[in-house]
Amino acid sequence: MIPKGVILFCLVLFLAPITKTGGARATDTARIECFKLLLCYTTVENNRSAWLSLQNDFPFPIRISLELTGHNTEPGKFALNLPLPAGGKQVLFSLRAKRGTNWYYRWTSEVHPDFPFTGHDPELLYDLPFAAQHAFPVSQPPGGQLSHFGPQQWAIDWAMPEGTEILAAREGRVIATRKNSDQGGPNESSKGEENFIWIVHPDGTVGNYLHLQKDGVVVSVGDAVHRGQLIGYSGNTGFSTSPHLHFHVSSARKTGPAFQSHPVNFKNP
Ligand SMILES: [Zn+2]
Repeated sequence: MIPKGVILFCLVLFLAPITKTGGARATDTARIECFKLLLCYTTVENNRSAWLSLQNDFPFPIRISLELTGHNTEPGKFALNLPLPAGGKQVLFSLRAKRGTNWYYRWTSEVHPDFPFTGHDPELLYDLPFAAQHAFPVSQPPGGQLSHFGPQQWAIDWAMPEGTEILAAREGRVIATRKNSDQGGPNESSKGEENFIWIVHPDGTVGNYLHLQKDGVVVSVGDAVHRGQLIGYSGNTGFSTSPHLHFHVSSARKTGPAFQSHPVNFKNP
């Protein structure tokens, strides 16, 4: 028996939030959705059950958290926070509908590279991620209501023209990039479409440089970068209301959400 309505809502946070919203009838279906290119969720649904798995094709371990809420399902509530090695695949949940009922479920998930975190030094000064003479205005501060809340509460956006040189705010190693997207806009559907650079720092935190322009990445995975090094060019890709750079520094968590952001102090704020 097919329930009258089965609705799946997914909110996936991977450093920057990614939202996927869709509707699905509970026919026998399998659906694969990939985020950041290398992080692929497979949803399998049929009349009476659903399950979700995650494949980590990044060449580094990740930490994943997930919260599930189901209506007329077993389980009805579920949460996890667990590690997933490079190349690993993990079933995140499996649920069944209660007999003879309409049922639906929703889940939210957050994922973060899982490098050893040695502690955030609040005294450490970062460089601005652009040439200081520009003095670009902050378009969304930490705690900003549009998207800087929850794990991303310490993120900061600067409004700047597309094509502005982006410089490494701190030394580290490039662990992931994307530069092939030309998609972006003010709608939730654009989440996950941004070009980006992630740099892991000596303390295990990750610097996130988001919304870069198409082909606006000039470093490669594995590169060691120094402060002030040109790493890319700003843009307006992904969920973005106007050209800007989003920057935050984050680390993995072993409980609750898979990551947290940290307050960052700059030499030239
Ligand atoms: Zn932002």
